[in-house]
Amino acid sequence: MKVLITGGAGFIGSHLAERLLENEHEVYIIDNLWTGKLANIAGIQNHERLHLVVDTILNESVMNELIFRVDHIYHLAAAVGVMNIMDHPVETLDINVKGTEVVLRLANKFKKKVFIASTSEIYGKHVEHDLSEDDNRVMGTVKKRRWAYACSKTLDEFLALAYFDEKKLPVVIGRLFNTVGPKQTGQYGMVLPNFVRCALLGKPIIVYGDGNQSRSFTHVYDVVDAITKLMDEPAAEGDIFNVGNSHEVTINELAEKVKEMTESNSEIEHITYEKAYGPGFEDMQRRCPCIEKINNLIGFAPRYDLDAIIKSVIDYFKE
Ligand code: UDP
Repeated sequence: MKVLITGGAGFIGSHLAERLLENEHEVYIIDNLWTGKLANIAGIQNHERLHLVVDTILNESVMNELIFRVDHIYHLAAAVGVMNIMDHPVETLDINVKGTEVVLRLANKFKKKVFIASTSEIYGKHVEHDLSEDDNRVMGTVKKRRWAYACSKTLDEFLALAYFDEKKLPVVIGRLFNTVGPKQTGQYGMVLPNFVRCALLGKPIIVYGDGNQSRSFTHVYDVVDAITKLMDEPAAEGDIFNVGNSHEVTINELAEKVKEMTESNSEIEHITYEKAYGPGFEDMQRRCPCIEKINNLIGFAPRYDLDAIIKSVIDYFKE
């Protein structure tokens, strides 16, 4: 099969490209290298079934040509990382909204199946229970820039479902929960690579806020398993799935665990959100997925527990 990955030189996209090549597919990547890196695909760049286009997904003539050629599209290109969203709100909204509009419109023109990479941010400020696909969204005020990301991704989901309902375009939506693993950098704010890098260098591990906020981390290999299986499952079309790991950990616990597993002497320090992200930031106190739906449909169960996840990130940084 011929497959297009938008954002294929990114952290998740490059792992997905490796997997699809292993599975004998012909892989086309389009990436503007904003947060994606050629280094992420260095191991596959000369593969005979890999085709790389360095361009933006907003370039419609290039996208037209690519989408015409392929059978499936994995749409991963987006503004990523909380830091990016705080620092570049215009670019974030532009790429997340207009980019997905281009992908869906052209996919519909040639009737090609699309996976839309969405996000757990969509759920917003829930604290009381594990998050299910049909839950309400609890968004903060428009004055807090962080929520722009969730809103842009929500619009992507609405548009994808609209194409499915109205135009019968096969689409599958996955809401990814804190994907981590080798090749992810801490450059755009992600917590685990930042903690591991600082711990290995003996620098302070910086926790934002009081550290009682929690997250559930998913290894990128589990995410790649889940999204490729979802795309191969016809019953997933026109539907939304949490892609995550339901083990929850507070950021304080994560800092302690990283310190212990790296045998680091680093201090664990706390700074305010304002100092970390600037004004206009609001965090989510809790974010943990219910993964019953994806488990029932494709038998998805994460293979990497938190220790294995942290170990794989430590091994990557040591390399
Ligand atoms: N965080 C932290 N130190 C860091 C980076 C992030 O304490 O160096 C916190 C951040 O405020 C959030 C959590 O860790 O509460 C997860 O942050 P990340 O940016 O990885 O993901 P997201 O906020 O999108 O879940």
